[in-house]
Amino acid sequence: MSANSSATPITNRLEGKVALITGGASGIGETTARLFVRHGATVLIADVQDKLGYLVYKDIGSDSISYIHYDVTNESDVEKAVDMAVSEYGKLDTMFNNAGISSIIRSQILESENEDFKRVLNVNVFGAFLGAKHAARVMIPTKKGSILFTASIASIMANDISHSYAASKHAVVGMAKNLSVELGQYGIRVNCVSPFAVGTPLVRKALGMEKNKVEEVASSCAILKGVILEPEDIAEAALYLGSDESKYMSGLNLIVDGGYSLTNPAFS
Ligand code: NAD
Repeated sequence: MSANSSATPITNRLEGKVALITGGASGIGETTARLFVRHGATVLIADVQDKLGYLVYKDIGSDSISYIHYDVTNESDVEKAVDMAVSEYGKLDTMFNNAGISSIIRSQILESENEDFKRVLNVNVFGAFLGAKHAARVMIPTKKGSILFTASIASIMANDISHSYAASKHAVVGMAKNLSVELGQYGIRVNCVSPFAVGTPLVRKALGMEKNKVEEVASSCAILKGVILEPEDIAEAALYLGSDESKYMSGLNLIVDGGYSLTNPAFS
């Protein structure tokens, strides 16, 4: 497939790197895939939304991109994708465990549905665990690698949307810290990126009919002044943590929230 303008490298910050990005068919994952390719990486997009994933792959239109079906909760999908990175591209440098879901129901504890809680934990925590496990399997022998997770500011403060989401994102950060201690001896770094509300399908769905809710919340933040974050703002943080520029950073939870968590202490 020939390169088009959206795939033309703009820098070599990720030159020679191979990245696997889960949830790469939409939102933050899709934007990160596009940015990584433009900075010289070879990217394997992994998602359950195959139609959308293929569209992204075709639109990027480069030899540096592929798409694979990948349900984060299905270990054989995870194993296959990680093995594909190694067999097709020779290695895996960056594993971006980004796929995630929120609760369908905004609810108080007594109205919460047990199945909904388990579903969110299964995708956001167990799915991230499987991604990290198989990435570590192929990174340990090479004695290098960067494992990244998309957590959320829900990992450091309360939210009024979902107990399951808060629990899942706190868990992801805890797991990342633990993994960074174990895997440091192999030169593998493990970090999180934690966004405040980004205008993606996930956050729109979580806030339901409350169309202007995100903008309203963002208006209480001095830096954001009502402007909501773009997926690019998170992709840039992932680019930094996925590149060698952050070679001494591990166990970090990089908050990208325009200062929201500082200016809204009532929720922390
Ligand atoms: P999104 O809905 O646009 O993208 C999420 C992607 O994950 C989708 O393509 C979806 O198909 C995929 N996915 C869902 N379940 C999957 C599974 N079982 N296996 C594989 N892929 C699966 O949402 P987004 O906002 O880009 O979310 C990406 C990450 O960012 C999530 O972990 C989310 O919790 C986190 N996050 C988002 C926001 C925000 O405001 N959008 C804020 C904080 C954190």
